[in-house]
Amino acid sequence: MAEKNEVCPKCGAPLGDVTETKTGKKLQRCSAGSWNAETRQTEGCDFVKWLPYEPEALDEKCPKCGAPLVMTMTRFNKKMKKCSTNSWDPKTKTASGCDFFEWVKAVTEELDEDCPKCQSKLVKVTTPTGKTMKKCSTSGWDKVNRVATGCNYIEWL
Ligand SMILES: [Zn+2]
Ligand SMILES: [Zn+2]
Ligand SMILES: [Zn+2]
Repeated sequence: MAEKNEVCPKCGAPLGDVTETKTGKKLQRCSAGSWNAETRQTEGCDFVKWLPYEPEALDEKCPKCGAPLVMTMTRFNKKMKKCSTNSWDPKTKTASGCDFFEWVKAVTEELDEDCPKCQSKLVKVTTPTGKTMKKCSTSGWDKVNRVATGCNYIEWL
């Protein structure tokens, strides 16, 4: 929610409306500045205020304590589900409540399309940050040797 009378700490102009990036992060730009998509530069005041990601209530229960789960995002744009009773106290640097959390993993869907490199089937992958790509179903990750295996075809959508 935008606080109406918030002003830019740089130039004193009121802040603009809250907008959302593709990855679901919210921000407010200074109303004295505007983004020029052609030059890919900010014109006028370049102040941007990032808003904290608001946890989204989920229709899922915590497997540990039965409280509802919430979806939240880390500073590094990774999404995770955590127990709504969990909270972080920045003063004492300790977590309280239930400690259940689960990283949101990429979602993989099978496609009826062939890989242009090796003719295997392609799969569509949606990353936890909401990006989608097509990749070869033969590709994998060798956890022991920490190397990618199989065909390396990738197409970002
Ligand atoms: Zn400003
Ligand atoms: Zn819990
Ligand atoms: Zn392939």
